[in-house]
Amino acid sequence: MKMTMTTKKKALINVDYTYDFVAAEGALTCGEPGQAIEGQIAKLTKEFIERGDFVVLAIDLHKKGDTLHPETKLFPPHNIEGTAGRKLYGALDEVYQAHKDAANVYWMDKTRYSAFAGTDLELVLRTRGITELHLVGVCTDICVLHTAVDAYNKGFEVVIHKDAVASFDKEGHAWALRHFKGTLGATVL
Ligand code: ZN
Repeated sequence: MKMTMTTKKKALINVDYTYDFVAAEGALTCGEPGQAIEGQIAKLTKEFIERGDFVVLAIDLHKKGDTLHPETKLFPPHNIEGTAGRKLYGALDEVYQAHKDAANVYWMDKTRYSAFAGTDLELVLRTRGITELHLVGVCTDICVLHTAVDAYNKGFEVVIHKDAVASFDKEGHAWALRHFKGTLGATVL
């Protein structure tokens, strides 16, 4: 009898890489650090999709004039429903447009920092037997961080692709990378 290698089922969670968060003129842009990961985030996403791994686009959604949302007092309006600001940025949008009808590509609106908050993400992942989450996107120390913390608490293994996460805050970015590794036990590639 032959021993079979069990490969962990993995998913790529692609966080908030939209026009508003990345473009120079975006409403809440993380600027050049965000633009600098364009090639890497697109490449990784294409690889995951073409390999048949599950890919989630976890994208911030706000309603125009929503005064009750906790971000209202923190940030200018961004990623408003129906606006171009919610479009994926640059090369990532090209990859998404080419594969958006694939069964392993899942666009998921989210309304809080964490991709798990108020969404069906956990159910969708558990249904597919996925145990390992690869995180890319922006910002390293806000939405990627909160998603990673929830993933850790729910018992997923976390892998962070450090060339495919970015923040406007250099110190916050560096701190978050240390936190992923030292506190969440994540693999930082
Ligand atoms: Zn937001």
